[in-house]
Amino acid sequence: IHILAIESSCDETSASVAQDSKILSNIIASQEIHQKYGGVVPELASREHQKNIVAVVEAALQEAKVSKNELNAIAFTRGPGLLGSLLVGVSFAKAMALALDIPLIEVNHMQAHVLAHFIDEPQPTFPFLCLTVSGGHTQIVWVKDYLQMEILGETQDDAVGEAFDKTAKLLGLPYPGGPLIDKFAKNGNPLAFSFPKSEMPHLDFSFSGIKTAILYFLQRQTAQNPKFIEENLPDICASVQHTLVEMLLDKLRKAAQAMNCSQIAIAGGVSANSYLRKRLQEEAEKNNWQVFIPAFQYCTDNAAMIAIAAYYKYLQKDFCPQNVGALARWEF
Ligand code: ATP
Ligand code: MG
Ligand code: FE
Repeated sequence: IHILAIESSCDETSASVAQDSKILSNIIASQEIHQKYGGVVPELASREHQKNIVAVVEAALQEAKVSKNELNAIAFTRGPGLLGSLLVGVSFAKAMALALDIPLIEVNHMQAHVLAHFIDEPQPTFPFLCLTVSGGHTQIVWVKDYLQMEILGETQDDAVGEAFDKTAKLLGLPYPGGPLIDKFAKNGNPLAFSFPKSEMPHLDFSFSGIKTAILYFLQRQTAQNPKFIEENLPDICASVQHTLVEMLLDKLRKAAQAMNCSQIAIAGGVSANSYLRKRLQEEAEKNNWQVFIPAFQYCTDNAAMIAIAAYYKYLQKDFCPQNVGALARWEF
């Protein structure tokens, strides 16, 4: 079975061709236009997707050495995400499926982030726990099967990726700042400064409080020393990163205990964070966990994860009609 999958939920235009569960190509065009605005500008993102999508799909087919006529289905991200961005992928997928007279498959972006674990080896076995940490979500997911997942806990306000990006912005770093905090933190002391961790009940998270705490901390420090950020950048990054990662691990430990589960996976853009990866490995040894961490290119947004999700939907003949619309919010 050959499936072409399209991802356009935020600011990467991506297309992938899969043969069953094997990824033949995964082309990602990242939009650089947002850097100077300090965040994704929805209107610009949508226009960039329109500019990129034809070339990205062509490249995905070419690299996979698969022709349009060999495709068995077209898959697309239906949501959640930015409506204007999603619409570009949704319309393109619909038109292509109609023209080729093949089935259309809708995919939930957050389920797809979890299913990135089924692209390469080693793969977890069901059921397992997945901490999905991205720019818009922070979820602890109980994964019962490829398409059967339950959210055990999630953020009640900002996502952890947002906390990374907003801290970076306060430090004067360009968008997206998460990877830069990771980079500068490598030369810093994670215990140099301490920030209050917000306590949420059960397996839920809250990251808006820490964002404000960081803002006040920086205001206080720069009032005394205008060069504070410049002189302490690695220590600030390492300390913020440490606080955010420990908040994630606290809940993950709690979830592992509650579900009596020792298979722990992480997914989403923030799972590319090197400190989270390192700390997770340490926790794995301490708690006898088997941990699963996707390859870097499958952590942030990509169409390969959409193709994998679509393959398992294809096996169940879970197709969707031509009149489906995009969904800015979509609980699974
Ligand atoms: P969602 O999946 O919730 O719709 P999204 O698609 O925008 O949101 P992803 O592309 O999965 O999110 O992840 C992007 C986020 O990951 C950004 O917040 C970015 O800063 C963060 N990120 C990427 N790499 C790192 C890193 N090394 N350290 C910390 N954060 C990172
Ligand atoms: Mg992005
Ligand atoms: Fe994402």
